[in-house]
Amino acid sequence: MRIDIITIFPEIFESPFSYSIIKRAKEKGIVDIHFHQLRDYSTNKHKNVDDYPYGGGAGMVMMIEPIAACIDALKDERNYDEIIYTSPDGELLNQKVSNQISTFENIIILCGHYKGVDERVRQYYITREISIGNYVLSGGELAAIVLCDSIIRIIPGVLNDETSALSDSFQNNLLAPPVYTRPANFKEMIVPDILLSGNDNEIMKWRYEKALERTKHSRPDMYNESD
Ligand code: SAH
Repeated sequence: MRIDIITIFPEIFESPFSYSIIKRAKEKGIVDIHFHQLRDYSTNKHKNVDDYPYGGGAGMVMMIEPIAACIDALKDERNYDEIIYTSPDGELLNQKVSNQISTFENIIILCGHYKGVDERVRQYYITREISIGNYVLSGGELAAIVLCDSIIRIIPGVLNDETSALSDSFQNNLLAPPVYTRPANFKEMIVPDILLSGNDNEIMKWRYEKALERTKHSRPDMYNESD
């Protein structure tokens, strides 16, 4: 999968994309991430990418010209499955959305700033708008990092144990069951016997029951959906 990220702060991505699962996915060549400094597409001598809003009011607006130039240049090179804009008023990110996007070959992610982007970018260039939650961030970079992490980790071949992503929360509308590791007894806090029994069937049953219990307790909305 190829991901092209359009941003005025590519440096923000350095650390989160240099560790753990994303690092491994890049090293294995499963994901190829490219950054595009939006200022490089500004024709303005100060490399500005924002301007005052028509009609007045607080805050600046990201101009259409540099964004259009950048997206057009990328589209000249290849076809994109989706051109995503991170936006608080977009479709709420969830596991289903991540699963779907993880199957794509090429995507662009545009990170907004200030008051957001000129509406015409959203109308004519963007194919999908994604929000990571009902709160406002200062910029789209953190949202893009969350989106990339959630999609990259489930691309087949990224995780060593293929079943591991499938047993995480939200796959099958269930939260993950509790997990334990050594020691079995820590100051009289005991690991459930069943997990030490070696009986795989019983363990699977126990995990499923605990996942149901946890979902019913913590996310009754999801539990009802899984009926
Ligand atoms: N004026 C806008 C907010 C702009 S915040 C409004 O009220 O809707 C600046 C940028 O941060 C946005 O353009 C977007 O790219 C990003 N952003 C902020 N909150 C976000 C969220 N919850 N999910 C995804 N992106 C977000």
